[in-house]
Amino acid sequence: MQRPGTDPQNVQPEDILCDFCRRATWAKDIPSIEGHHGSIICTDCLACAWTEVVELQAGVDLEGASCTMCLEERSDPAWRSPLHEEASICRRCIKLGGRAFRKDGQAAWGAKPDKD
Ligand SMILES: [Zn+2]
Ligand SMILES: [Zn+2]
Repeated sequence: MQRPGTDPQNVQPEDILCDFCRRATWAKDIPSIEGHHGSIICTDCLACAWTEVVELQAGVDLEGASCTMCLEERSDPAWRSPLHEEASICRRCIKLGGRAFRKDGQAAWGAKPDKD
């Protein structure tokens, strides 16, 4: 996401935030993945989501709310940011993101089992 109040004509790296923790992922060089409409999840938030939804098979029902990343109303379990409740990511997006990070060669992701 862009920091609220960002000038669309003059977007700075500090203005690009993870939707789930609101850290400036670009400015701090935190690996992140972009979803639709400029939504962003960083590697740390995705790791939390992966643990909860993929590994522990927990997660929440979005009950009609849409996934922040794909903007679809998904019926699969989702992870909701503990910091910003309006931000959630569905299981499908978590898995896609995790695979992308692993492909990227990120050490933390190489060890994660790819469960279904
Ligand atoms: Zn984050
Ligand atoms: Zn999604």
